[in-house]
Amino acid sequence: MKRIGVLALQGAFIEHISMLRKLGVEAFPVRLRQQLQDLDGLVIPGGESTTIAKLMRSCDLTQAIQELISHGLPVLGTCAGMILLSRSATSMNSETIGAIDIEVRRNAFGRQIDSFETDLSIPALGKEPFPAIFIRAPIITGAGPEVEVLARLEDGTRVAARQGKVLVCAFHPELTDDTRFHRYFLETVVG
Ligand code: GLN
Repeated sequence: MKRIGVLALQGAFIEHISMLRKLGVEAFPVRLRQQLQDLDGLVIPGGESTTIAKLMRSCDLTQAIQELISHGLPVLGTCAGMILLSRSATSMNSETIGAIDIEVRRNAFGRQIDSFETDLSIPALGKEPFPAIFIRAPIITGAGPEVEVLARLEDGTRVAARQGKVLVCAFHPELTDDTRFHRYFLETVVG
């Protein structure tokens, strides 16, 4: 059975764990370095990216995670997780992990519409639109040549991407009943 760790320092980790379990894999919270051993994949959830970054450093996890990803550990980052995996992000007072060649803008939708749900076309998941929940979400403002953009809002804004074993999205697939995004991670990225 696949073993998927979910970084559980802050944010929406419980929802990821239950969705992954629903899909029949062994999913468990990761808070310690030892728990990073023998993983088939890692999820970095949404939450507050600056807080997660700080806690990762104080738990001595940042470098270990960076090394595992650079050695090919498949990883899914949602919302704050996408920010943490990016090459660079606005208003981050610490370095990001830099696992995917994207630039992101944090809190890109502003206060007026800081949360919304929209039917998103994600061709990699099939024809049926995906119910995407955005909560104080970031957007992708730049992407290198090796990055495959998986989803855009109607105005063209990039909100999901993949580069090799790194999958990211600006929204919260774990807060819906639609398991397709996680299934894509497990079947296509983790493989
Ligand atoms: N606004 C948060 C940040 O910048 C991300 C929000 C989320 O993960 N839902 O870290």
